[in-house]
Amino acid sequence: MSELRSTLDELAGIDLAELSAEALLDLTAELVTASNRIAAAMTTVVRAADKREAYQRDGAVSMKAWLRGSCRMAPELATAAVSTGRRLELLPETSAAFAAGEISAAHARVITKEMTPRRLAKAADAGIDLAETDAILADLARETAPHETARGVKAWVAGVDPDGTLDDAADTRRRFTMATGLDGRVHLRGELDAAGGEYLHTALGALMNGDRPAGDLRSHAERQGEALVALARGALDAGGLPTVRGERPHVRVTIDLMALCAERGAAGFSGGSLGWAGPINPETARRLACDAGVSRIITGPSGLPLDSGREQRAPSAGIRRAVEVRDEHCVFAGCDALPEWCDFHHVVHWAHGGPTNCDNGALLCERHHTAVHEGGFGIQRDPGTDRWHTYRPDGSEILSRAGP
Ligand SMILES: [Zn+2]
Ligand SMILES: [Zn+2]
Repeated sequence: MSELRSTLDELAGIDLAELSAEALLDLTAELVTASNRIAAAMTTVVRAADKREAYQRDGAVSMKAWLRGSCRMAPELATAAVSTGRRLELLPETSAAFAAGEISAAHARVITKEMTPRRLAKAADAGIDLAETDAILADLARETAPHETARGVKAWVAGVDPDGTLDDAADTRRRFTMATGLDGRVHLRGELDAAGGEYLHTALGALMNGDRPAGDLRSHAERQGEALVALARGALDAGGLPTVRGERPHVRVTIDLMALCAERGAAGFSGGSLGWAGPINPETARRLACDAGVSRIITGPSGLPLDSGREQRAPSAGIRRAVEVRDEHCVFAGCDALPEWCDFHHVVHWAHGGPTNCDNGALLCERHHTAVHEGGFGIQRDPGTDRWHTYRPDGSEILSRAGP
């Protein structure tokens, strides 16, 4: 143990800035293996102490209690350490892979977690060879991430204990929480049963594939996030949701009239705020107010409502349709998002006196609508040719696309 300690001290003394990228990666990989080996050794020692009831020396009622009390271990980790050690005794191949650092504690946990004594007995009754199962799962764990290994384990469970699987399948709990963070962003968290997850996955998949412009470099997570928002917007726009307090559900933006009418980036104005998600900057409020589906409540300095929010600065169906026919898709350079994904953008915002008509309208997908408002990009239509030009915030043109 003292050698292990001095090795760790030596490691802490290395000047990482001196190492090449290759050396850093090699060191990382070696430490991952070493930490797996240490986790395996810890599990084995915990098992030995558990068997000998060594915890009694400190007056603890169980090894799990001792790990929590004397090592300040999180309850779920203490449970995992004790039960993994206990069950690994029956799985020599998996134990060996763990001891060699080839698989992690998480792998060992997903394998042993489902191997309850009851299931092992059933497997033995059914003539399923445990040694073979052990070898197959150990190999799977060597080659896959823990969540994939868990799928292999589930297959074994389904084979020996269909009823047990049904117990799992009966768990249809669905939980989902949303919270606004200090950074003004909204954080999501939750879990679904398999069927519920499949519904969501299918709906998001349809939206993701239907809306992928050429050269889209967004990550899967980014596209899935946008699909989730599109799913919500689509449901709101379709008008099929239950009414809330007698009104069609809608997104509500509150912003001071002077702030709304101020020029982009003008100082001294407070931002707007969303009914639930809270403060947003004035330009985001202007973007949201740019198109239909947003009712407005505009209050003056006294805080009294100036506008009930019923007034629609949104295009009529006819104007919207005419702009869709003219623009065909998002008019931002290089984007071909279809009209149904687009907002009706006022080139000169209605708050700045821009009319709601074809000449002042443009189709912009949500991403590019954001680029134009918050990002400071500009778009301009050549009235002679109906060609749209896109400008960077510094005023240089990106590339123009041919109009219809
Ligand atoms: Zn706009
Ligand atoms: Zn676009």
